[in-house]
Amino acid sequence: MSAADELKVLNPATEEVVAIVPAAAPEDVDAAVVRAARAQTAWAALAPADRARLLRRFADAVDVHVEELAQLEVREAGHTVAGARWEAGNARDLLLYAAGGAERLLGKQIPVPGGWDVTFLEPLGVVGVIAPWNFPMPIAAWGTFPALAAGNAVVLKPAETTPLTALRLAGLALEAGLPEHLFQVLPGHGHIAGRALVDHPAVAKIVFTGSTRTGREAMERCARQVKPVTLELGGKSPNVVFADADLDAALDPFSFLDNSGQDCCARTRILVQESVYDEARAVLADALAAVVVGDPADEKTQMGPLISRRQLDRVRSYVPDDAPALRGSAPDGPGFWFPPTVLTGERPDSAAACEEIFGPVAVLLPFTDEDDAIRLANDTPYGLAGSLWTRDLGRALRVSRAVRAGNLSVNSHSSVRYSTPFGGFKQSGLGRELGPDALTAFTETKNVFISTEGPAL
Ligand code: NAD
Repeated sequence: MSAADELKVLNPATEEVVAIVPAAAPEDVDAAVVRAARAQTAWAALAPADRARLLRRFADAVDVHVEELAQLEVREAGHTVAGARWEAGNARDLLLYAAGGAERLLGKQIPVPGGWDVTFLEPLGVVGVIAPWNFPMPIAAWGTFPALAAGNAVVLKPAETTPLTALRLAGLALEAGLPEHLFQVLPGHGHIAGRALVDHPAVAKIVFTGSTRTGREAMERCARQVKPVTLELGGKSPNVVFADADLDAALDPFSFLDNSGQDCCARTRILVQESVYDEARAVLADALAAVVVGDPADEKTQMGPLISRRQLDRVRSYVPDDAPALRGSAPDGPGFWFPPTVLTGERPDSAAACEEIFGPVAVLLPFTDEDDAIRLANDTPYGLAGSLWTRDLGRALRVSRAVRAGNLSVNSHSSVRYSTPFGGFKQSGLGRELGPDALTAFTETKNVFISTEGPAL
């Protein structure tokens, strides 16, 4: 097997090989899509209640294996074990939530003259899901489970570095009784297997999560076939802290350190009202010094390594040794470690302040007043998430409406719940996942008019 035919999965905390997995070739993608199309026809013909029952069984299987899935995520992605358990639980909970939707895909009855008009939400067919490495399990789940519940089959291509939890989820689906080939996982290279999935004429929709650059390419290729696409892309989200905020809560460093900053919603632009800037700096310095960085399998660890040497080099390139910064600590030795860092000498238009670094690095910038805060918050091509901290309710509402981003939180840093919509404005993406309308994104609306005035049947 040549290097192009296989994927070497490394433990990012130790650089040891965890697994070697075959990489799918374009022929493998083609064969998987053909099998999926057959499975989908039978799946869509099942009564919605039966689809729901099977998905609930799948959820039960995930529930029984939460710890196994979490440990796998620790090994292949370097996630802290607490974070990885949350991720496996999120996959289970989304399955249960989506299963309920299978029986609630309601059409409309529209008043028209001369007959009855009804709409049906028809499944699309085979959906291709392309996932990144930063949250391999939840992001695979967000694209896959609502699609299955709506009557589709799914072919999922996980990221090169993190195929293991997705493969295990597909195994659990089979063990739970889901039909063979309905949910297939094809590890592979993006430019080979990913591209083949995007280009396949029998794939009816692509759900892509990853970098804005690759997402743009996927969208261009989908356009050639007028294929719908959901894009969940990058971010450079603001954390807007007004002077009246609870500074300790607002400056929680896990707003940008969660998953070692490899989080598309990380609040990496910390915008602080100038009257409390010095106080904020002191709060952040203490908080960074207290972060426990180390072996992600240790229950006490709060932050693990970066995913790969490539990512480590990328993060380093934004943080010269002499850059003015607040810094925490990180282990030496094997593994892809970088300390929690807040850059304090950046201009709002510097590369570190504008580009997605995707590591444990934020910039601290002052603002003068509400208008200045809104201007700075929106001064980015991205629009995924953001936090606003103030005790003034009117201001919280005004600023929430003015910031152009898909997921905002007021006096909180939360972004993701399986029951609320998730996605980005501007170059952070297209379409929404999760929430009450998640299944609808995997259907086509069909309108049927039935004449009551035509010839008797
Ligand atoms: P990436 O774009 O390099 O890869 C993402 C996926 O696309 C991988 O599975 C990869 O193999 C595949 N791919 C690569 N080239 C391809 C091609 N030509 N055609 C089809 N597929 C291809 O991104 P990444 O480095 O894995 O992930 C990090 C990025 O993902 C960050 O920018 C982050 O912000 C973003 N992200 C966004 C969200 C969100 O929901 N908005 C969530 C997580 C990550």
